[in-house]
Amino acid sequence: MNRRDFLRTAGGAALTGSLLAGMNLPATASATKPKTSPQPFRKGAWAPRALIHRAPDSLRQRMAELAEAGISLLAPCIPVPYSPWNDPDYYTGGTGVIEGYPDWNPFQGMIEIAHEFGTEIHLMTSCFNIGREAPIFQDHPEMVAQFPSAGDWSWAARKQGNYACGMQLRAQKYVFDRLRTLVERYHPDGIHLDYIRTGTQCVCDYCVEQMARQGLDIRAIQRRYDDQRDLWLHTGTQHMLRKYGVLKPVSWGVQEPVPDDEELGRWIDWRIDRLTGFIAQMYNYTHKYGMELSCAVKFFWPAQVPTGAQDWVRWGREGIFDQMCQMDYDRRPDELRTVIRESQELLAGGTSQYWPGVARGRGATGEQKRWCQSPQELAERVQICKDAGTDGVMLFHSGLLDDDDLAAIKDF
Ligand SMILES: [Zn+2]
Repeated sequence: MNRRDFLRTAGGAALTGSLLAGMNLPATASATKPKTSPQPFRKGAWAPRALIHRAPDSLRQRMAELAEAGISLLAPCIPVPYSPWNDPDYYTGGTGVIEGYPDWNPFQGMIEIAHEFGTEIHLMTSCFNIGREAPIFQDHPEMVAQFPSAGDWSWAARKQGNYACGMQLRAQKYVFDRLRTLVERYHPDGIHLDYIRTGTQCVCDYCVEQMARQGLDIRAIQRRYDDQRDLWLHTGTQHMLRKYGVLKPVSWGVQEPVPDDEELGRWIDWRIDRLTGFIAQMYNYTHKYGMELSCAVKFFWPAQVPTGAQDWVRWGREGIFDQMCQMDYDRRPDELRTVIRESQELLAGGTSQYWPGVARGRGATGEQKRWCQSPQELAERVQICKDAGTDGVMLFHSGLLDDDDLAAIKDF
């Protein structure tokens, strides 16, 4: 299973390398001291849907193996609702999906077995990537996010139709209600917002109207960048650094400044605010019932913010996630140390826990060849995270960890 199959949430800015490089980080003396976690270092793992589909005895054996290795948090990938390969009833009814076990409720059973071993379960969902088969799109076609597709943005057409517009309150309520159903029916230990973002910027009628009320023509803004995606990312990145420079978590300064685009900045800020509002609502709801909220985020900040509105620095500093798990899969040891140090500096003073994400690769080709290729490499990455004082490490993913891997990380 490759990462795309696992996540079912493809997309986002196809950028590599630390975008913090060359941007004068760290910035302030007060922000350079890494947070020292008062809690013991923990280990968690994202988990494929296959874990949920295991028969009870097999599931119990696997949970025992993972717990023996010290993995105390699992974020299993739940199906995207209403996708063609999923029975909608699975999401809320949960019966009859495992051959030979017609009365087995996969979610409930998984949570109960996990608790036998002291393992917490955060059900992982891909939020606004609800799938083009979602009936809500038949009833409310205006909820479909409209991604730009001209010029440099043709890649976004691949995602067109799968995402609800995360800016629309109706879409937020739809996603929130589905998550609330999970919370109330299964009472997991938490909800995990997978790679939380908006896909890319949306120019649907709703977004156009909302921005017009503020005097902005976002379709005109978009047209300015139709053939200049790099300039969009660069301008948006500088907007974020300028904004955070005022707040002091970064020092403002770039090597190749571009003219400020005040209109683009206001559009980006509005999108961040809307997405943050949704997350804060989910955070308050889960905490109201004694649960946690965690998420997966990309490591490069702020370059992904102009597209996906994924401002994890704000979320971490404001503490609206319990665990922020950063997808550092391709990092070599020195790069991982750098990313961790930069992230700790950016998050200093915040209350969200910071868990770097480390991937176990299995294969000589494709993206997995850039992930850890041995138990020793995996252990080295975990050691780096622990030595850096992070709150934990999140492994990608439980299905890729064999006995030797589990033995290698057991003592951390
Ligand atoms: Zn929209």
